[in-house]
Amino acid sequence: MTATHTTPARIKVGVSACLLGQEVRFNGTHKHMPMLTQEFSRYFEFVPTCPELGAGMGVPRPPIRLVGDPHAPRAVRVDDAAVDFTQLLQDYAAERIPQLQDLAGYIFIKNSPSCGLFRVKVYLDNGNAGMTPGRGVFAAALTKAMPLLPVEEDGRLHDPVLRENFITRVFAMHEWQQLCTRGLTAAGLIDLHTRYKYTLMAHAPHNYAKLGQLLADAGKHDPNELGPRYFTGMMQMLQLKATRKTNTNVLMHLQGYLKKQLQSNEKSSLGKVIEHYRQGIVPLIVPVTMLKHYFHVFPDPYINRQAFWQPYPDELSLRNSL
Ligand code: SF4
Repeated sequence: MTATHTTPARIKVGVSACLLGQEVRFNGTHKHMPMLTQEFSRYFEFVPTCPELGAGMGVPRPPIRLVGDPHAPRAVRVDDAAVDFTQLLQDYAAERIPQLQDLAGYIFIKNSPSCGLFRVKVYLDNGNAGMTPGRGVFAAALTKAMPLLPVEEDGRLHDPVLRENFITRVFAMHEWQQLCTRGLTAAGLIDLHTRYKYTLMAHAPHNYAKLGQLLADAGKHDPNELGPRYFTGMMQMLQLKATRKTNTNVLMHLQGYLKKQLQSNEKSSLGKVIEHYRQGIVPLIVPVTMLKHYFHVFPDPYINRQAFWQPYPDELSLRNSL
């Protein structure tokens, strides 16, 4: 079966430096996440950033927190709200972000007033925690500047579905970057769309055709204008979680390509395995491995090129937990 993505030396992924074990937190400690250094580092070259250190706040330093408007919070000292680091952190973000343009993803740490991505506490001016959460100052600047970049938080990566979704998007982003490096063409965009058909169907089954309409007259458009519009739609679809139901739908479509080749007992076994997956009895890797075997025996050039077979290296074992 044709590999559907090229695995370069390692894909660049940004990360909050303390997650790699760097002792850069306000109190000189780290928040080492073994999953990153022991599993993901085989495929990703991590590019660490500590915005507070980069902004010159030093280690150790007084802790800070977010206050004020949750949509534009200020980062101030916990013990003295008059000492405001917001501008310093924003200036550092403006300097650092242009150096991160080749990243294919970013892993932030939760709850940080600088690096937190989701649901960071924002305090009211009276010192009480407000009801509306916000986003850390650096995380907000990066996601605004690079809206298509796949981003996640450390804690959420322990959820198998969210982990697989993030990694799928990182590898898709890397494919896109390679396509851009080679030069965008109408043929390249159509090929990307074709190879990602079943991956996209697993994430957003009703939107594949709609996304394809963007490419209907691809040859008549400037690929440098059309490409980013297409990829924006593709990443929005991939951000939606694939479910047991949508994956089962894809597996059944793929099974349909084998109806003439398989004996009735083979069809029956394959059907049972897909049904067991649907019921949650076996993980996704089981029907996928069986289908891969049959498409190895009965190759189909269109199906064998699908990114669905290998959206990321098998060794990450992400489908064992889905
Ligand atoms: S600023 Fe970010 S990287 Fe630095 S210690 Fe805080 S959470 Fe970690």
